This record gives sequence, C-alpha cells and structure tokens, in this order.
Amino acid sequence: MRILLVEDEPNAARMLAKGLREQTYAVDVAADGEAAVYQAGVNDYDLIILDVMLPLKDGFEVCRDLRAGGLAIPILMLTARDAVQDRIAGLDTGADDYLIKPFDFHELLARVRALLRRGQTLRPEVIEIDGLSIDTRARQVRRDNRQIELTAKEYALLEYLARRAGEVVSRSEIAEHVWEENFDPFSNLIEVYVQRLRRKIDEGYALKLLRTRRGEGYMLTSAKEDSDA
Ligand code: CA
Repeated sequence: MRILLVEDEPNAARMLAKGLREQTYAVDVAADGEAAVYQAGVNDYDLIILDVMLPLKDGFEVCRDLRAGGLAIPILMLTARDAVQDRIAGLDTGADDYLIKPFDFHELLARVRALLRRGQTLRPEVIEIDGLSIDTRARQVRRDNRQIELTAKEYALLEYLARRAGEVVSRSEIAEHVWEENFDPFSNLIEVYVQRLRRKIDEGYALKLLRTRRGEGYMLTSAKEDSDA
C-alpha cells in the first residue's frame, strides 16, 4: 500500500515516513500543497495523509482540488488545532477523517488501517487463500499454521497481491503500490522479490499459490486449473 504524506516540517515528515515504512507502507513525501496536488495526479496512491498548514496551498485547498479532479482515495487530514471549524472545513472539503496534532503514532496507524479497509469493498483483516493466511493487522503470515518470516518489502508485496487475489497484477501496478517514487522501472527488483516470496510461501507445497502470467504479471490464487508456476 502506497501513501502520500504531505507535511512541510522536515522532522515531522521524516519521523512519520520512517514509522510508516517500518509498517511496510511505501511512502512518498510532498513538502507543500502544490507538490501534493502534482504527485497525487501522477502517482497511484492508496491513501493521502494531509497536513492542513502548508506552504503554497493549504490542506483544505489541496483536498478540494483533488476531489474536484475526481480523486476518490481516502484522505486523512492532520489539523494543528482542536478547532471545530478546522475539522468541519476538512470534512467539507472532502477529507475522510482527521487527527489533531499532536497525536499518538499508533492512533495514526489505526486510522490509516481503517481508511485502507474502507477503500474498496470492506476488506477483511485476515486474508485467507487456501491455507495461506495473512493477518494485515499483526502483519503475520502463515501457511498451514506454519509461521512464515518475511521482510517488510516481501510482506508488502504479498499483502498487495493478496488484496487482489485471483486477479493478474501487472509489474507496473506492483511498482506503483508497493514501491516508492525513486523506484527504477528498468530494474528486476520485482522479479527478485517475487522469487523470494515464492520460495518462502510455496516451496514444498504441491499447490503453488504465486503464479506468473508471462508478459502480464503475477497472480495469487488457489485455483487448480491455473497451476503453471
Ligand atoms: Ca505544517
């Protein structure tokens, strides 16, 4: 899941981005309102965390611009003051939720998870695919009750494929939702991660869950007729 974090204070942005990356999210940072509108227009984010007090364009204007441009993804607004007018203005301009600074990082994470779940049809916290279970809250993965240790990036890749289980997911979609802006589209990093993930979740099992569709992408599925892995 890829997040655009819009925060102009460098220390706050750095701390938040670090914390979110530790939770396996891919994070891009925008330091002013115009950069935020630009980045949200060219990249495919799953969620935006938007500070209200920003240079060039404040958070309310950013939110209004994005919604006017037809962007429907969840927006979590960060307001500096517990002023009721700010909260009303935030929700009125199209934010889905808000948090008052200073906030507890765990509360931010809980709201991010809730908004990402709400994103499409209600998403379950634990995704099950034929004995493979992915607990998206605890970020724990098991297959047939055997715990599988994954790195943050391997986990992020698996969760993204699992949220779209049964669909072919292209390399560029993976790059957009699992990696950050500095991702080199010509690298073979995705293939490398898919191979590592396959080794960890499929090795030793007759039924391979992580399939390759030549020229199209990858698919996580338990459907038997598709076993070409
Ligand atoms: Ca600010």
